[in-house]
Amino acid sequence: MSIPKLIDIHTHVNFNAFKDDGDEVVKRTLENNIWMILVGSQIDTSRRAVEYAEKYPEGVYAAVGLHPIHLTEAYVDAKEISEEGVLGFKTRVESFSYEVYKELAQHLKTVAIGECGLDYYRTTEHGTHNMEQIKKLQADTFRQQIALAREVKKPLMIHCRNAYEDLIQILKEEHAQEIGGDIHFFAGSWDVAKQFLDLGFYLSFTGVVTFARDYDEVLKNVPMDRVMIETDAPYVTPVPHRGKRNEPLYVEYVAQKIAEIKNLPETEVFEQLVGNTRKLFRL
Ligand SMILES: [Zn+2]
Repeated sequence: MSIPKLIDIHTHVNFNAFKDDGDEVVKRTLENNIWMILVGSQIDTSRRAVEYAEKYPEGVYAAVGLHPIHLTEAYVDAKEISEEGVLGFKTRVESFSYEVYKELAQHLKTVAIGECGLDYYRTTEHGTHNMEQIKKLQADTFRQQIALAREVKKPLMIHCRNAYEDLIQILKEEHAQEIGGDIHFFAGSWDVAKQFLDLGFYLSFTGVVTFARDYDEVLKNVPMDRVMIETDAPYVTPVPHRGKRNEPLYVEYVAQKIAEIKNLPETEVFEQLVGNTRKLFRL
């Protein structure tokens, strides 16, 4: 098996933003010796992630799961994701089907369960659910996906926004340290980071590190063997491509910035990032 230069551990070429040129995007990424994990957020995007992974003999993998914002009606505003050209969208409500996801999860190219977790930021009360009910629904659905990860013996790809305390509580109650995983788009303090590290989890960082200094302290403190990188494309495009659609190829800017913040040689950081990813996701 070949060794990639970098791996974008969380990207969405399986989303509609790439419906016209997804394969071209994947090919130019692979040509640059960068691998990727395509992450699903519902049944259809999870299935599309697996289909993409099946098409390529090496370098494209899938994560399958149900994102917490798709459990109830929520509106995502274009301004919130601060990208020009990305329209707001109404989420389609879905309830978690263990059997359907289990089938996708058992696929050889599926390397993680997610994105799953809690999101209290993009969740608003509406007709049928109050906030307490929404929180309970998110928690129950997350616990089912932890159970699935345990059954298929694959790690978790966790999404968490404005809900770190509750999420850590659930991970502890479910003994999720036995399963392991990554906290995608980590956006917490060093205090929060430490709690995830104590549970054996990895933290991944996006293109935000190229244009905001909010995570420098966390990054300086996190041991290099627990750091991973992602683009979360099509969102949060790194410098120097701000304003354009993000894509997995740009993960290199994230890696370079991390080497700069940690004051380590790029080659060493790149190797470590790839090693971490292959270890956790068994690539
Ligand atoms: Zn994502």
